[in-house]
Amino acid sequence: MEIALVGIGKIAQDQHVPAIGASPDWTLAATVSRHGQVEGVEAFTDFDTMLAARPDVRVVSLCLPPVPRFAYAASAIRTGRHVMLEKPPGATLAECHALEQLARVHRVSLFATWHSREADSVAAAKAWLADKTLRRLAVNWKEDVRRWHPGQEWIWEPGGLGVFDPGINALSIVTEILPGPIHLSSAELAYPENRQTPIAATLDFFHPQGATVTAEFDWRQEGDQIWTIEAATDEGTLRIVDGGARIEIEGEPRKIAPDLPLSGEYPRLYAKMARLISEGKIDMDLAPLRHVADAFMLGRRRRVAPFHFRGKQEVKP
Ligand code: NAP
Repeated sequence: MEIALVGIGKIAQDQHVPAIGASPDWTLAATVSRHGQVEGVEAFTDFDTMLAARPDVRVVSLCLPPVPRFAYAASAIRTGRHVMLEKPPGATLAECHALEQLARVHRVSLFATWHSREADSVAAAKAWLADKTLRRLAVNWKEDVRRWHPGQEWIWEPGGLGVFDPGINALSIVTEILPGPIHLSSAELAYPENRQTPIAATLDFFHPQGATVTAEFDWRQEGDQIWTIEAATDEGTLRIVDGGARIEIEGEPRKIAPDLPLSGEYPRLYAKMARLISEGKIDMDLAPLRHVADAFMLGRRRRVAPFHFRGKQEVKP
C-alpha cells in the first residue's frame, strides 16, 4: 500500500521512515512537511494539495505534534483515507472521539498507535501478570528533556503534555499489562514558572483489588535515564526496564523471543496498521490519554524553577 508520512520531524526520521522502508506492506509514496523531506520521495508542503494530487495514496501516517493533528486527521478521513496517529492520538479526548466517529461514517481504518506497547517485553510481562495477584506497581519514568527533546517548544505549549509526552508511554504499557482497569485518585504536577506544561508529575491510582499503583515522571533527570515499571505480586516481582526493552523476574533477566523480521516497536505498528485495513477495523484505545486528562483535571499544581533549553538559567527547585 502507498502511504504518506506527515510531519517530517524527529520521530518520522528516526522510526517511521526506516520501518516503512523495511516493510513488505508499505511504499512511502509522499511526504508532507514544511521543512522536512525524505530523499527520493515526492514532497509536499501542504496537506490538502497532497490529498488532491495523490488519490493513489490511501493511507496517511500523522507524525505531527498533538495539537495540529485533529485537523489533518479529519481532512484525511473525509477524503476516504485510512489514518495512523502517533501518540498521543490527539490533544483532547473529545477530538479523539470525534475522529473515531468520523472514521466510522467514512468507513476507514483509524489507528491510535502506542509504540511502547510494542516494545519487546510487553507481551511477556502481560502474560506473566495475567494469573498473579498484584500487590504494588510503581512506574519510574525519569529522563533528561534537553537530551530527548532538544529545542522542541511545542512540548511546553498547551496541548504539548510536558512530561506526560514520555509519561504517556509508561501509561500505555501499564494499561496494556494490567488485567483490569485502574483510575487516577490523586496527582501532583510541577510546572516551571515560565511554562504551560508540567516538567514532573506524581500519580496515585485506585486499583480495584487494593494494590498500590503509583507513577513518577520527571524530565530533570541527568546521568542515568530511568524507564522502569516494577510490579510486586503474590508470586514475585516483575521489572520492566529500559522502557519495555527487557524484563526481569525476581531480579533474573527473562529471555524474550529473539528478534524476528519486522520486530521492534515501529515495524510492529506498521504491520498492525496493514492488518487493521485488511480487516476494515478501527483501533482507538484512549486509556493512556484518559489517565493524563484526569491528571490535568485532578492534579494539585506546584510552581517550580523556570526551564530553559540552553545556558545556566535553570535553577533546580
Ligand atoms: P518534532 O521533531 O517537533 O516533529 C514534528 C514535525 O511536525 C515537525 O518537524 C514539523 O514539521 C511538524 N509540525 C510541528 N508543528 C506543526 C504545526 N503546528 N502544524 C503542522 N506541522 C507541524 O516532533 P517529534 O519528536 O517527531 O514528535 C511528533 C509526535 O511523535 C509527537 O506526538 C510525539 O509525542 C511523538 N513521538 C515522538 C518521539 C520522539 O522520540 N521524539 C517518540 C515517539 C513518539 P514541518 O515544520 O516540516 O512541517
